[in-house]
Amino acid sequence: MKIYVATHNQHKLKEISELLIGFEVIADDPDGVEETAEDFIGNALIKARAIAGRHQGAWVMADDSGLEVSALGGAPGVRSARYAGEPSNSANNNKLLLKNLIGVSDRKANFTCAIALIDPSGQEHIAIGKAFGHIGESPSGGAGFGYDPLFIPDGHTRSFAELTAEEKNSISHRGRALAEAVKIIQNDK
Ligand code: IMP
Repeated sequence: MKIYVATHNQHKLKEISELLIGFEVIADDPDGVEETAEDFIGNALIKARAIAGRHQGAWVMADDSGLEVSALGGAPGVRSARYAGEPSNSANNNKLLLKNLIGVSDRKANFTCAIALIDPSGQEHIAIGKAFGHIGESPSGGAGFGYDPLFIPDGHTRSFAELTAEEKNSISHRGRALAEAVKIIQNDK
């Protein structure tokens, strides 16, 4: 089954393709679309709707995700990609996050992923996944992307960037949201 995914992020696309087994995952860049919503669900819907018109009669999905740090009131949140300003730069985002947590002992954080699905009849569905953990004192690991080198998932001593793709996918916010998305697709058939 074909599913069109509104993204230009190759890392995300790889994770999504690894998890949507049995689907032909096709990227379609929602170029120029502004993520103006105040929450992950709203932004995922904006991106899915932006490409849905081009793929009528097919499944379409978009995800919006980010990191929420308790001691920072949920920041960077929906502004995760551009926390340190435009253009989006992960190294600068990570540096700013560590700076904002200097002297802070409560380092609890979670990633959230919202997936918006539009089915072939045009009906919209939402799947949510979360991964809980904390922010390390310094970056470690070279895998993954974004805040992965700083995020240590609960029950682990290694950051997301030190886990294999399979390990990360099995516990990540995106992995969990995609598992929900697959259930939605299968129940809709
Ligand atoms: P989006 O492309 O608007 O969903 O922005 C998501 C941003 O949140 C990314 O640019 C990353 O900074 C961060 N993010 C989301 N998921 C992950 C992840 O799995 N690992 C690390 N950072 C992530």
